[in-house]
Amino acid sequence: MTTHHPDLSTLMSYSAGSLPDAIATVVAAHLSVCNHCNRHVHEAEQIGISLLEELEPAAMSSSAKGDILALLDNTEQAPAESCEEKTLPDDADVPAPLRPLLGYYLDDLHWKSMAPGLKQFILPASGSKLRLLKIAPGTCMPSHGHTGSELTMVLKGSYSDELGRFCAGDVADLDPDVQHQPVADTHEGCICLIATDAPLRFNGLVPRLLQPFFQL
Ligand SMILES: [Zn+2]
Repeated sequence: MTTHHPDLSTLMSYSAGSLPDAIATVVAAHLSVCNHCNRHVHEAEQIGISLLEELEPAAMSSSAKGDILALLDNTEQAPAESCEEKTLPDDADVPAPLRPLLGYYLDDLHWKSMAPGLKQFILPASGSKLRLLKIAPGTCMPSHGHTGSELTMVLKGSYSDELGRFCAGDVADLDPDVQHQPVADTHEGCICLIATDAPLRFNGLVPRLLQPFFQL
């Protein structure tokens, strides 16, 4: 049961297909576990469809029509869902939308140590905009602000910050003006999926000096 969700505007942008890839990936991961947000996205899609239906049809040139037909001819059929997909282990802890990229288990990733109690894994081909952070129990992240949006989903464990307590499935949808210092709860470490569309803004000198080395 999740209690923190993406903003409605984020879900609307997701349904319109206008979010940056990294942010859209975190929304997709959250939608895989949240019926509440799935309903909002479905409603937004219905609004989009009814708006499209009200548009006057426009005539299409014969060359554009030919291009589209050629494109459809070249589109490969998606392979049928494999049987393997249906016999997934119940204990897989990677959200379904990320499994093609990460496999099934968070522990199997090649985590890179950043500081005591803090490890990260940057998702391949994300241009360092999408990362996983593994925070040991009770570890405090450096206080930071943002120069752009940040969307974080908790995959395992929990953390607390100025905005509340975030547990597995919860999402923090942060605007550039939010300043926070997440602390992993003490009973279990925390693994988060984090999308940023601009670098973080650290307050302390040491995190600022380390920032270029960890592509934060
Ligand atoms: Zn939700």
